[in-house]
Amino acid sequence: MTHVRPACPCGSGQPLARCCGRFHAGEPAPTPEALMRSRYSAFALDLTDYLLASWHASTRPAELAPDPTTRWLRLEVLESGEEGDDGQVHFRATFREGRRFGALEERSRFRREAGRWYYLDGSPRVTRLRTGRNEACPCGSGRKLKACCGRGV
Ligand SMILES: [Zn+2]
Ligand SMILES: [Zn+2]
Repeated sequence: MTHVRPACPCGSGQPLARCCGRFHAGEPAPTPEALMRSRYSAFALDLTDYLLASWHASTRPAELAPDPTTRWLRLEVLESGEEGDDGQVHFRATFREGRRFGALEERSRFRREAGRWYYLDGSPRVTRLRTGRNEACPCGSGRKLKACCGRGV
């Protein structure tokens, strides 16, 4: 039996431990994009403690409930940048909730304090994806939906 290390949910193609897992373990994310990717992975893995810890104190919610109904399928970073201690990332995240597929698009703002980036806020826009079972799977695998994430749905 071969041992397969889990791939990072952020889609980098790297093993989790060498990608976002380092930041989940406490290493500071070097860029707003790295922090954003690690937060996406934390949503996918339901790491609510990490989500709260990487949230800026001024906008952080008091608590965050795990969300087992949403399955995060794909992350696309459309644009990212930083200027001094301010950063922003424009991304699109594809998810599935039961039989429904959706995409969340957001321009997030980040702020660096004492050498660490924090998520500040963003304006998410969620759209429902209408995908036929014979069409390309929204997860980006290149396979048809019925042969990929839509299997057994
Ligand atoms: Zn990652
Ligand atoms: Zn798929």
